[in-house]
Amino acid sequence: MQPRPPPDPERRNPDLQEQDGVSEGIEALPNRISRYSKAKKTAIDIAEYIGRLPAGQLPPTTLNRLQSCGDYLIFRHFFTVDEVKLHAARLCMQHLLCPLCAIRRGAKALKAYLDRWEVIQAQKPALRPFLVTLTVKDGPDLLERFRHLHAAQRELWKRKHRGRWCSSLNDVAGAVWSYEVKRGAGSGLWHPHLHMIALAESMPDQQDLAREWHAITGDSHIVDVRPIDQVDPARGFIEVFKYAVKFSDQSHADTVHAFLTLRGKRLLASSGCFRGVVVPESLCDDHTSLAGLPFVDLFYRYMPGGYTLTRP
Ligand SMILES: [Zn+2]
Repeated sequence: MQPRPPPDPERRNPDLQEQDGVSEGIEALPNRISRYSKAKKTAIDIAEYIGRLPAGQLPPTTLNRLQSCGDYLIFRHFFTVDEVKLHAARLCMQHLLCPLCAIRRGAKALKAYLDRWEVIQAQKPALRPFLVTLTVKDGPDLLERFRHLHAAQRELWKRKHRGRWCSSLNDVAGAVWSYEVKRGAGSGLWHPHLHMIALAESMPDQQDLAREWHAITGDSHIVDVRPIDQVDPARGFIEVFKYAVKFSDQSHADTVHAFLTLRGKRLLASSGCFRGVVVPESLCDDHTSLAGLPFVDLFYRYMPGGYTLTRP
């Protein structure tokens, strides 16, 4: 049985890449505003869709929060070092329903784990990051498929910890992974999968992992293992910290279904030396390291055409 890469590994996520690019200066702000405008517009479209649903399908607070999410954004420009930070915003925190909160959640988690990776790298220079993707067979029932994937990844880690099997993750010193759901391109059925950053001294063997994964899942040997560029690890890390759902690729009905099915579930988990990383709850930027520097606040309000710089 020859392992093959997942049908659509989705190697790109321009929103997050741009947002977390090298520049956080004032020159990058117009692009950032434009991305947030687009995300807010999609959130409004989703809210309108929800508003047309029969009453009782979602709690009224869910809709109210989504409607007002990101009505205003305050950016703080620390002009002596040219850094722009999202200082304040009223955000709904419903990342499965709201593209704006999904962008922010991904960016915050990416930063927290990249920071930890820097520390680990200094302590254990022999470790290298690898991107591992695990999938299960597509199916019509999202909850059933998600539970299947979740149970399979638990069993994979249990095998490593029991030490009775020669697990393909035996040499992995730490990992962080996140779940993503979408519909399979060919089948149109639900296709949950997970992307993981695994830290090890040598690359886990893809064929061994595929065999082990098939033995656990009974329905999928589709795994993918590849090294992450050590010079620019953010590019590989982004795969793990991108959206849990892709709003632009799915109907609003699927967005609502995924939200109702997966809300409250932990979609980001870690193990080993990646355990214990705290992703700050606030979706705004942390700028404590810039405390004391002079700044200018830029107040943006959302208008029908997008965010507009205005007076508070
Ligand atoms: Zn939101």
